[in-house]
Amino acid sequence: MKIILFDIDGTLVKAGGAGARALNYAVEALTGHKNACDAVQLQGATDKANFENAFKAGAGRKPTRKQLAVLTQKYVDRLPSEVLASVKAKKYLKVKGVEKFLARLSGRKDVLLGLGTGNLRDGAFIKLEPSGFLRHFAFGGYGCDSHHRSVVLQKAVVRAAKLAKTPIKERDVFVIGDTHRDAEAAKEAGYHSGVVLDGFGDRAAIMRSNPELVAEDFSDMKPWLIWLGLEKDPRGVRRGTYICPDSPIEHAHYGRTGMDLRDIDLGIKKLREIKRKTAGK
Ligand SMILES: [Mg+2]
Repeated sequence: MKIILFDIDGTLVKAGGAGARALNYAVEALTGHKNACDAVQLQGATDKANFENAFKAGAGRKPTRKQLAVLTQKYVDRLPSEVLASVKAKKYLKVKGVEKFLARLSGRKDVLLGLGTGNLRDGAFIKLEPSGFLRHFAFGGYGCDSHHRSVVLQKAVVRAAKLAKTPIKERDVFVIGDTHRDAEAAKEAGYHSGVVLDGFGDRAAIMRSNPELVAEDFSDMKPWLIWLGLEKDPRGVRRGTYICPDSPIEHAHYGRTGMDLRDIDLGIKKLREIKRKTAGK
C-alpha cells in the first residue's frame, strides 16, 4: 500500500489569498492592527505558527492561549466567505493537471490519498470545498496536529495505517508539496519528497532542499507516476537496483554513470585488442 500525502496551498489549489485575508480580519478584530500578514511568511508554515506570528505582528507580543483560540475561531468563521470571494473573482485556481492526476490515483487499489497540510482541519476542508477534491481524501495530517510539518505528516500516516488496517513502512510514503518546507518535513520523517514548482515556493530554496522529484506541475503525469513506482520506467531500468535506486533524479544520475561505465568497458576491450595485436597473438 502506497500513501501519498498532498499539501493544499499551491499544490492542489491556489485560494487567491483567502487564508491571508481571513487571518488579517481575525487579527484586526482582536488587536486593531490591519494587514498583519504582510509581515509574516505564511507559505509552507503551519496555521498554528502563522496565527501566533500574525498576532505578534499585530499586538507586539505572543497571544495567550485564550486569545489564540478566539483568533482561530474568527479565522475559521471568516474563511468561507473569503474563499467564496476568490471563487467569484476567478482567483481560486486548481493547480495544472492535478485534477486528472488525483482521478488517476484514486482509481487504484494500491494507493491511499491523504492530506499533509499546515492548514487547520476545518480550514483545509473550507479551502478545498470549491475544488471538488475532498472526495479523494479519506484522511490527513493538519496544522492543528502540530507546529512541526514532519509531525503533521507522521500523524497522517498513523491515520492511514488505521484506515488501511496495516502497518505503513516509511519508504511507502510519498509527500507532494510546493515549498522547501514540504520537502524538508518529508525527509525529516523519512518519507519520499516531490515538489511542484508552480506553487508558492521559492525555487532556489526548493532546489537546496533537494527533493527527489521536481516538476513544473502535474500536466505531465509520467514523471510523477514513475517516481511513485506506479508506472514502469521507459528505459526499462528496474527500481531498487543500484542503477535506479529510487527516484527519477537518482535514475538520471546513475543512468549516466551506467553509460560512462559502458564506455569504459568498450575502451578496455579496444585496449586489449591493441595489446594482442602488438604482442603478435
Ligand atoms: Mg503549500
